[in-house]
Amino acid sequence: MLPEDALVSAIARAVGPPSGGVVLGIGDDAAVLDDGTVASTDVLVEGVHFDLARMTARDVGHRAGTANLSDLAAMGARPVALLAAFGIPAGFEDAAEVAAGMSEHGVPVAGGDLSRAPVLVVAVTAIGRAERPVRRSGGRPGDVLVVTGPLGGQAVAGYTGRVAPRTEEGCALAAVATAMIDLSDGLATDVARLARASGTGAVVELERLPRAPGATVDQAAAGGEDYELLAALPRGSEAPVPVTAVGRLTAEPDVLLLDAAGAPRALRGWDHFG
Ligand SMILES: [Mg+2]
Repeated sequence: MLPEDALVSAIARAVGPPSGGVVLGIGDDAAVLDDGTVASTDVLVEGVHFDLARMTARDVGHRAGTANLSDLAAMGARPVALLAAFGIPAGFEDAAEVAAGMSEHGVPVAGGDLSRAPVLVVAVTAIGRAERPVRRSGGRPGDVLVVTGPLGGQAVAGYTGRVAPRTEEGCALAAVATAMIDLSDGLATDVARLARASGTGAVVELERLPRAPGATVDQAAAGGEDYELLAALPRGSEAPVPVTAVGRLTAEPDVLLLDAAGAPRALRGWDHFG
């Protein structure tokens, strides 16, 4: 297990299992409430996730929106509102620009909070609704693994380009997917998360990964921040949106990333605490 995932598990144990109106708690892309509300939160920290010398304040806000809306998309949820909390360092005067970038997604920014902070911190909560929320844990051996679009583009662009969340694709795939996750940390890491949650292994054929222009196989597999979706579909089912099949879930517990010769590669995506 990755150090970040071990920390999430420790936090989940500390707070206990979901109760009250919460039907799905810590450990998936988002929480699910008993009325179909889906909620997710994500934080971007200056010096960790972005550098203001290389990204505008508006682009930082846009990216914070993408990271959160992508987690809703991974549940098959349609967004309703965003809440935003900013930690603002002395001398930073573009908080309104951050908010403007966030609202470019067309989802209302409905509230938030402000504080002084040593660096710029942008914490967002996304609230949505899903008729049939798709967890990471529903995958079964034999399910086909598909991705919604090209990977590695952010690694090529130095993680400064704009990316759109796959909201429509996620909502459409929710009708057939047994499990789904967004590719925020890189497929190599995120496919292992989906397989572990589903109690399966996985095989991914690296040559089948759709690659963004200029991206290497390694960048496509481990680059991260592409915010495409990885879904498990029952074998023989028809995807409602264009997808690329890249592998399958297996009964054997190993997660194998196979090169063109069929040899396993040791690739890892992003881990904050690795
Ligand atoms: Mg996610």
